[in-house]
Amino acid sequence: MKQRIVLLGPPASGKGTQADRLSLAFDIPHVSTGALLRSECANGTPLGREADSFTSLGLLVPDLLAVRLVTAWMGEHGTALLLDGFPRTVSQAESLDVVLAGLHDPLDLVAVLELSDVEIRRRILDRLTCNACGATFGSGLHGLAAGDCCPRCGFQLARRNDDTLETLDRRLHVYREKTVPVIDYYQRTAPRILRKINAELGSDEVFEALRKLMNE
Ligand code: AMP
Repeated sequence: MKQRIVLLGPPASGKGTQADRLSLAFDIPHVSTGALLRSECANGTPLGREADSFTSLGLLVPDLLAVRLVTAWMGEHGTALLLDGFPRTVSQAESLDVVLAGLHDPLDLVAVLELSDVEIRRRILDRLTCNACGATFGSGLHGLAAGDCCPRCGFQLARRNDDTLETLDRRLHVYREKTVPVIDYYQRTAPRILRKINAELGSDEVFEALRKLMNE
């Protein structure tokens, strides 16, 4: 079974949702750099304040900060992990490879969730997020509004401060400029572990496709 998995994809492609489901099904921890940063920010830490000055504008935090977050996490929890939102740049992907090679634990799977711009926009403007447990819900699909209780943990649901039309264009631009080259990087360095999945499908179908890849 796969132990070290990277989920790549544009904003709202379902990385977090699928990582949660895979984490439950395969008992591998889900690590979302975005969620780690939001929690630092909610706790008002210096790192959180620094990160917010980038994330609220739809920009990436500096590579060093993102790499430090993930390596600190691995130092505490080990290297079996489902990475969601990391690596987001080629430099981060290279750093991850170096760290994992040093531990003789290379990546097993890089899954790319592909989604059209039209669907990205629709999902972003409909999305509610729980800052406590990180779960996300479509407000239309689930009949929820900002301020309602999270169906999973009871904390308050909110719109992410970067889930707006103003920041979306920048996030999409950043995705194309910085993160699409990460897919090319894995295509060059590890083509056998790179897989693409149509994320326009329903959540259950995407999960089924990922489940198969985990067991391949
Ligand atoms: P996400 O929850 O994955 O959409 O991430 C939310 C925001 O956190 C992103 O728009 C970035 O500002 C920041 N972020 C998350 N992961 C990374 C990363 N690996 N490198 C740089 N910035 C990140």
